Amino acid sequence: MASEFDIIILGGGCAGLSLGMRLARLGPDCPRVAIVERRAQYISDRTWSYWASQSAQLKHLARAEWQKVAINGDGKNVSIDCAVVPYQAIDAGAFYSAAVAEIVGNPNILFYRGDEVKAVCKVNGLWEVRLSRGTLSGRQVVDTRPVHDAGCAVPLMWQSFSGVEVECAEDIFDVGVATLMDFIQGPDGQVNFLYVLPYSRRRALIEVTVFGREKRGEADFSSILEEQVKTVTRSAAVKIIYREHYAIPMGLPEVERSEDESYVRAGIEAGGARAATGYVFQRIQRWAEEAGERVRCGQLVRGHAKDPWVVRKMDRLFLRVLLRNPERGPELFVRLFAMRDPRSVIRFMHDEATIWDYLRIMCALPRGLFLAELGRALFR
Ligand SMILES: Cc1cc2nc3c(=O)[nH]c(=O)nc-3n(C[C@H](O)[C@H](O)[C@H](O)COP(=O)(O)OP(=O)(O)OC[C@H]3O[C@@H](n4cnc5c(N)ncnc54)[C@H](O)[C@@H]3O)c2cc1C
Repeated sequence: MASEFDIIILGGGCAGLSLGMRLARLGPDCPRVAIVERRAQYISDRTWSYWASQSAQLKHLARAEWQKVAINGDGKNVSIDCAVVPYQAIDAGAFYSAAVAEIVGNPNILFYRGDEVKAVCKVNGLWEVRLSRGTLSGRQVVDTRPVHDAGCAVPLMWQSFSGVEVECAEDIFDVGVATLMDFIQGPDGQVNFLYVLPYSRRRALIEVTVFGREKRGEADFSSILEEQVKTVTRSAAVKIIYREHYAIPMGLPEVERSEDESYVRAGIEAGGARAATGYVFQRIQRWAEEAGERVRCGQLVRGHAKDPWVVRKMDRLFLRVLLRNPERGPELFVRLFAMRDPRSVIRFMHDEATIWDYLRIMCALPRGLFLAELGRALFR
């Protein structure tokens, strides 16, 4: 194998396949593309949730949608109507199948599955990608492999979570409401919260999440998850359909961009994750959509666009306040969602907040905490 491509995509996960899918849609105008993915086969290994705003992509793949979300904590239960921007969930298995079908349907794209990228270097103006089973060369490389494999990214905070999809023997869940946060006391006084996506009266995804400086492993959650599943399902007989565990890096330092525009990084650790919320899926979709459009116009793919300065500063400020005052987490989130006009917080969640939304959010939160953190940031 020694082939030459216009674009070589390293990693065929969410970002790699999303880009591949947009390039496949260029039909005969699609350049010569190679996608290299370590996995030989895809399985349904995660659930992506997001706010289905006007700009959200691939909404047709959603497995479920909720027009009401609930936040419980600090002795209050807040439920907001989000019919205008519903909350949706896509099963990764459905996404992988749809993306792969489009990609393999375009003869200009070669998909190297079950192969691994070993090294990348530039030789005589072309990128050479060494795989386990050969070498590819290309004019541009889009690298979506996670950076932390190389141990170089340290986020401000981790959003660690562990969950199970359960099927109960009786009707338990209210399918009308997704519980985004139901704060509970975790081990060692940690502030944990439950996340419940009811797919039907008998089936739901139940997760325990914690924010913290340290990344938590699956074992850290095993007893609290078991206990919470019992509570949520009122000790009904349950069958575990599937398990998921992950830690989303929040507030990563900006990934170093290569001076050579023909090598770009993309994906969760390269600007794909929004610092304050940890939402990634739709940011990757928007990036892939724009990248496909650039290629259609004969331009190089670019990395994720930087968030505006004010968004980056506000997000980091919010994370620092949360890190310094974990016990106030329930109060902060309840106040946020209990704002008079919850549309501001929804726009904040899906990256479409205006400066007025930010001002409203600041006014809704305890000002003392934020001013103290702002002071610290100024003198740091
Ligand atoms: C369980 C779970 C739940 C999540 N829930 C949400 C959610 O609800 N909402 C949300 O917005 N985000 C969520 N995320 C976060 C984020 O959306 C996903 O992690 C997303 O898959 C990130 O996309 P990516 O392309 O950056 O990374 P990945 O999808 O992990 O893709 C990277 C790919 O690179 C491949 N690879 C790595 N090294 C090599 C190599 N050397 N050679 C070849 N291939 C290689 C990997 O096999 C992988 O397929 C969740 C993540 C997980 C794991």
